[in-house]
Amino acid sequence: MTTHNDCSEISRSQLSVEEALELLLAQSRPIADSERVPTRSGLGRVLAESVVSTIDVPGWDNSAMDGYAVRSADLAASGGRLPVSQRIPAGVVGPPLESGTAARIFTGAPVPAGADTVVIQESCTIDGDWVQVPPDIEAGANIRRTGEDIAAGSQVIPAGIRLRAQHLGLAASVGAAELTVCRRLRVAVFSSGDELVMPGTPLGPGQIYNSNRFTLIGLLEELGCEVRDLGIVRDTLDATMEALAEAAERSDLILASGGVSVGEEDHVKPAVERLGSLDLWQIAMRPGKPLAFGHLGAARTPFIGSPGNPVSLFVTFCLFARPFIRRMQGIVGSVRPAAVTAEVGFTWPRPAKRREFQRARLEPDKDSRPRLSLYPNPSSAVLSSVAWANGLAVIPEGRVLKAGDPIEFIPFSELTG
Ligand code: AMP
Ligand code: MG
Repeated sequence: MTTHNDCSEISRSQLSVEEALELLLAQSRPIADSERVPTRSGLGRVLAESVVSTIDVPGWDNSAMDGYAVRSADLAASGGRLPVSQRIPAGVVGPPLESGTAARIFTGAPVPAGADTVVIQESCTIDGDWVQVPPDIEAGANIRRTGEDIAAGSQVIPAGIRLRAQHLGLAASVGAAELTVCRRLRVAVFSSGDELVMPGTPLGPGQIYNSNRFTLIGLLEELGCEVRDLGIVRDTLDATMEALAEAAERSDLILASGGVSVGEEDHVKPAVERLGSLDLWQIAMRPGKPLAFGHLGAARTPFIGSPGNPVSLFVTFCLFARPFIRRMQGIVGSVRPAAVTAEVGFTWPRPAKRREFQRARLEPDKDSRPRLSLYPNPSSAVLSSVAWANGLAVIPEGRVLKAGDPIEFIPFSELTG
């Protein structure tokens, strides 16, 4: 039922984006469970226990180049002409270098005891079993020192970071075959709306495809979440309550799109209120003004409901749900997206009432200066704009902009994944 009370909801004072995020993060609790996984399977997981090296990397002084290992003190007396006394490929440990000789050596091979310098092969002249090294060789050159990357006993990866490929490589470089990671976050999702059908089904009159399901699940999977999809939920109180009750059962978090306004077809608010508690926030931003946040059931499973508008869903997920999720996942340190300052390559002639998160591209202009451009259609109902953009331009409320003005830009690398 639409009542006059709905108006009081809408006119309730609006939260700033920062206030809303602050309120959300204050309620986000990291999940405590962790598990051991093979290092090979650690990609995208959050490290629960820091990786400490038991070895030096490199484990011994080794050659940085293919060339000749010498004692620099021998060079003056010999005029740089030395017999080659041994050959040391990678993986072989040669005997100590006889004085007055050179060792043929290859990249990564241990420098033999006694040698202190490697001369690169390109600057040497070979004459049978002899090598002529050039004058003015820098003593100590072309040797990678024991422990110069990692010293035994040092922490190589701190707990609380999401593992990228380079972290897995680093863990492997110290011999870690397994890693202790936080359990994957289990997130239940559903999409509310009688008009929604799934791709693969022909559209009937008034129907649209459920795009939010794909956006939302993709965003969650990019964050390494285990997603439980409860599908499309019809616009009735019963159906919404049923979906929420099922979602709350085995999930750490519930995300829903659509039905969070206060119209008579919007059932999320009353449904969550019956099963737990809910705040419906009006946030001074566009798109994505209403955001529902609540808790369900005995376990007080957190619930975040975004508007159904596909651009609003994307923006509210990136700005609010993602930081909340990252904190739950066990990320240590800032979980907020970081903005950079960039110059606009457009004008914004009418001051915005609410802060705008416009779909934008930061790209070099013809003089290679980074410039922001906006998607031609600024409407927040145009999902094409999100696929086109590489980030969100933050248009401050109450200001006009002319070309060259600096504003904040949040690249997608800070908003997704
Ligand atoms: P609502 O938040 O339910 O009022 O929906 C706002 C707008 O978003 C309406 O135009 C809906 O048709 C559209 N919408 C809602 N849910 C979805 C969805 N899952 N996929 C695509 N569009 C949606
Ligand atoms: Mg709806």
